[in-house]
Amino acid sequence: MWTADEITQLCYQRFSELPKRGKPEPGREWTLLAAVIKVSVLPNQEKVEKEVVSLGTGTKCLGRSSMSSNGDVLNDSHAEVIARRGCIRYLTEQLRRAVSGQDSSVFCQGEGRGKWKMKSGVSFVFFTSHTPCGDASIVPIMTDIQSQPCPPVRSEEIPHGTNEKPEGRNQKRRAETQDDGINKHSRFKTEAKSDDWLQCGRSLGVRPPAESPVPEGENALANVVLKQKDSAPKEPEDVHRTGAKCVPGGPEDPRQPGIGYHSTGLLRVKPGRGEPTLSLCCSDKLARWGVLGFQGALLSHYLQGAIYFSAIVVGKCPYSHQAMQRALITRCSDVKALPVGFSVHAPELLQSSLEFVHSQAQTEHSHQPGQGRVSPCGAAISWCAVSDQPLDVTANGYKHGVTKKALGTSKARSLICKVELFHAFLSVLAANDKSCLPESLRGEDLQTYWDYKQAAQLYQQAWLQLRSQAFPLWPRSDRDLLLFH
Ligand SMILES: [Zn+2]
Repeated sequence: MWTADEITQLCYQRFSELPKRGKPEPGREWTLLAAVIKVSVLPNQEKVEKEVVSLGTGTKCLGRSSMSSNGDVLNDSHAEVIARRGCIRYLTEQLRRAVSGQDSSVFCQGEGRGKWKMKSGVSFVFFTSHTPCGDASIVPIMTDIQSQPCPPVRSEEIPHGTNEKPEGRNQKRRAETQDDGINKHSRFKTEAKSDDWLQCGRSLGVRPPAESPVPEGENALANVVLKQKDSAPKEPEDVHRTGAKCVPGGPEDPRQPGIGYHSTGLLRVKPGRGEPTLSLCCSDKLARWGVLGFQGALLSHYLQGAIYFSAIVVGKCPYSHQAMQRALITRCSDVKALPVGFSVHAPELLQSSLEFVHSQAQTEHSHQPGQGRVSPCGAAISWCAVSDQPLDVTANGYKHGVTKKALGTSKARSLICKVELFHAFLSVLAANDKSCLPESLRGEDLQTYWDYKQAAQLYQQAWLQLRSQAFPLWPRSDRDLLLFH
C-alpha cells in the first residue's frame, strides 16, 4: 500500500513547504520532525491516498516551575507531542463537521447515541524523524569503535541541562574509564552531551556519510554484525545513552560501563533546562497511545473506540527494531481487562532510509566554522489540516515572538495548548443537537477541563488498567493544574 520511504518523503516535503518561521537555522540549529499521516483506501480501488494531517517540530520541554494552572502553556514541545496535539485539533474539527451534519473525511455515525467511528478504509500512520526519546532510543551500538573518528568530548562542551555539574560528569566518566579502559571511545561518544533533548542521534554525525542504514526487522543486529570487518567486535559494544532519568520511586540505571549503563523498559522523565520536568519520554507516551489511543480523553466521549496508529515510521537514525518493539509494544502487551472500545494495539514498526535534513547529525555535518555552536532549535512548529490558522509556532511554551507583556493573555496561547483544545472540544458540544449528545456528556455538573476528562469513564477505566498493570510508576497529573474552564 505504501512504503516507509514514501511516508517519510511526504512528511519532509510537507515540512519544506512551510514558511521559514520557527525553522532551524541551517548548519547551526537542529530539530526533530514528527507527523500524522491519514491513509485512505479508496472504495473498490487498490489506490491509497496519503495526507499529512498534522506535523510538528521541536526538541524542548519545560520544567515544573513553568507549568500553568490555566492550561495555556505547552510544557512538552517534543515533535511527537506537538504532532499528536495538532492531530487532536484536526480530529476535533473533523468531529465538529460530522456532528453538525457536514461532510467529514474521518468520521461517520457509529452505533449508540452520539457515537462516531472512523470511516472504513481510513487509518493513521505516525512518523518521527528520530527514534522516540527514552526507552526506544537506548539502542545498542554495533559498529567497530576503532574505525570511528570520534573526538573525545572536552568538559567545556558539556552544556547545562541536567542536574549534574560538569565536574561530576567528568569524574564519573574517569571512574568508568578506570573500570574498563577498552570502551572509553564509545563512552565518550555516547555520553557526550546532555541538553534539553536526548542525544541519541549524535554518533551518526561522525559516521562516514556513505554508510548504509541499519536494516529493518528482527535480523537487524545480525545483519549489522555481518557487515563488520573481521577484526571488528561481534556484539554490542555500548548503547546510545539517554539524558532522561528514570521516574522517581522505581529502579535506577546501573550506570555500568558499556552496555550495562542503562536499564531498559523503564519509564523516563524528559530532561528540562536544569530542572526535572513532569513530562514522560516520547517512548512512554507512544506506548500509552498504543493502549488508550491517541485521541485523548475528551474526544473519546464521542468515539465508539479508541483511535490507534496502524504503523510507526522512523526516519534514518541509529535504530533498533528490538528497542522500538520493547519500548512501544512489549511493555504493554499483557494488559488485560480493558473496557469496550480499547485494546492492546501493536503498530507496525518501520524505518526509512531517508534522513531529515535538519537532524542533529546532518546539521553537524554541514556546520561551518564561525557559525556558532550547533544547538537544538528553540522553536516548535505545529501545522495541521484545519480551516482556520493551521500554523502555530511557539517558543518556551507560548506563541513565538509574543512580548513579555502579552504573556498570560489569550493572544499568547498556542492553539494546541490544553485550554485551546478544550475550547475546541466545547465547540463540538455547542454544535451538537442536545438530543444527540453522548451519554457521558449529559451530566449537569461538568464544568472544568478536569471534569470533562474524568467523565470519560471508559477512557479512565482503560487508563487505570494500563497504569496498574504496566506503568504503576507513571506520575499522577496534578489536579490543581487542570481545573481551568
Ligand atoms: Zn521526545
